[in-house]
Amino acid sequence: PPTLVWFRRDLRLSDHAALTEAASGGPVIPVFIRDALVDGLGTAPQWRLGLGLKSFAEALEAKGSRLILRSGPAVEVLSELVNETGAKAVYWSRAYDPDSVDRDTRVKETLKGDGIDAQSFTGHLLFEPWTVETGQGGFYKVYTPFWKAVRGCDVPAALSSPSDLQAPATWPDGETLADWELGKGMRRGADVVRPYVQLGEQAAQTRLGVFMRDKVADYATTRDEVSKDGTSCLSENLSLGEISPAQCWHAGCRAIEDGKPGAETFLKELVWREFAYHLMWHTPRLLDGNWRQEWDGFPWKTDERLREVKAWKQGRTGIPFVDAAMRELYVTGRMHNRARMIVASYLTKHLMCHWKIGMAWFEDCLIDWDPASNALGWQWSAGSGPDATPYFRVFNPVTQREKFDPDCAYVTRWIAEGRKSPSDTALSYFDAIPESWPMAPGDAYPDPIVDPKEGREAALDAYQNRDF
Ligand code: FAD
Repeated sequence: PPTLVWFRRDLRLSDHAALTEAASGGPVIPVFIRDALVDGLGTAPQWRLGLGLKSFAEALEAKGSRLILRSGPAVEVLSELVNETGAKAVYWSRAYDPDSVDRDTRVKETLKGDGIDAQSFTGHLLFEPWTVETGQGGFYKVYTPFWKAVRGCDVPAALSSPSDLQAPATWPDGETLADWELGKGMRRGADVVRPYVQLGEQAAQTRLGVFMRDKVADYATTRDEVSKDGTSCLSENLSLGEISPAQCWHAGCRAIEDGKPGAETFLKELVWREFAYHLMWHTPRLLDGNWRQEWDGFPWKTDERLREVKAWKQGRTGIPFVDAAMRELYVTGRMHNRARMIVASYLTKHLMCHWKIGMAWFEDCLIDWDPASNALGWQWSAGSGPDATPYFRVFNPVTQREKFDPDCAYVTRWIAEGRKSPSDTALSYFDAIPESWPMAPGDAYPDPIVDPKEGREAALDAYQNRDF
């Protein structure tokens, strides 16, 4: 009998323990289910998922297999498929966000109750969240001890892709991606973001190879230079599992052996991703409430209609570094890590707006959206998170620009106003935005909506006067 492999955010053939196990036992039926969690994704992540599924279906076809698409609650869809195909086993890679954990637990119980071999496998993380424990047996709340705890741990070698995927005697029916229209609600057209996408397992492997060959040696310093292409950009692929973290980890370890000093820093960044998952799994409130609950009374503004929220989203705060970054996000679906920290600090401190507003905007715009890293990034920046930057340490977006974009290359790339011959990328932003956004490339660049010094002082006052 065939085994169903239920794919979710693990769209790859190599280093896929569930697929490898299924393939070793006979015919395999790969399945993807459009359930409420898929429908609930932000528009850009959902659109990127659609592209990822198309590419993955092609990779399966090249192996003589297929990706069966179905919609509905996972537990019902899988039970139906088991009945239709006579499958005796259903395998999948584990997910760690609370909604997926609830769903997967129900699926496992139901299938097992029906006598099906229902199993989840590791693969999305290097270290299962419950296996990393402090000396007292608890979970880690601070990054550096977490890093020290995992640095020496064994990461099993990555699995190669199964040489053969046996097809079942008959394929079950499926739906089509075209009918699903994933991401159709995306405000900017798909053709705006598409040139910035590097899609699928093959592209992800190439990305990793190029990064290890050309960039990792200097990564420890270039990773902060916002106009340079100094980072791996693998988050887009890691987000949908088009590459596994273990493949990235082992490539980093080999680079260390080859004497490339930046590779240790790369491993540390991969472990930030692990840390985010560790915290989300142990404390799911990371996703939707102040992780430090004493922040619940903090007077952050929550009204999305406020002028400063709109100016922030639309990249017209009058602070060039912030505006450049918000425009980069809108056009490319990505943002440099340093810039993410600056715009998050600016929104939550200078503008005193709630981090959830920023987190939701990122969730709608990013093609590398990740539930754990996004939430941790926002709570870290706002000061409400575990191991967060203290609230009183307010990033100065002007001196940050001087430090990390000293020749203004990043700002020039994204800001058109006030320039005689704006760059093509800066102009492309104006082609992408809705007509209702009150801005045009020929306008004068706006004055700051909040003076950086005054914004900083107001934020510090609110912090000092807080009643927690
Ligand atoms: P590299 O510098 O090449 O790093 C390699 C990998 O390490 C990344 O691909 C990523 O998986 C991981 N990593 C690096 N930095 C971090 C970090 N600070 N936290 C967690 N993992 C990290 N990352 C996402 O993948 N999705 C998000 O939705 C996301 N939202 C963020 C929101 C805010 C406010 C902040 C401050 C950070 C956010 N990050 C997010 C983390 C980080 O900005 C991105 O992972 C990074 O910019 C991706 O670029 P890269 O792949 O070139 O990273």
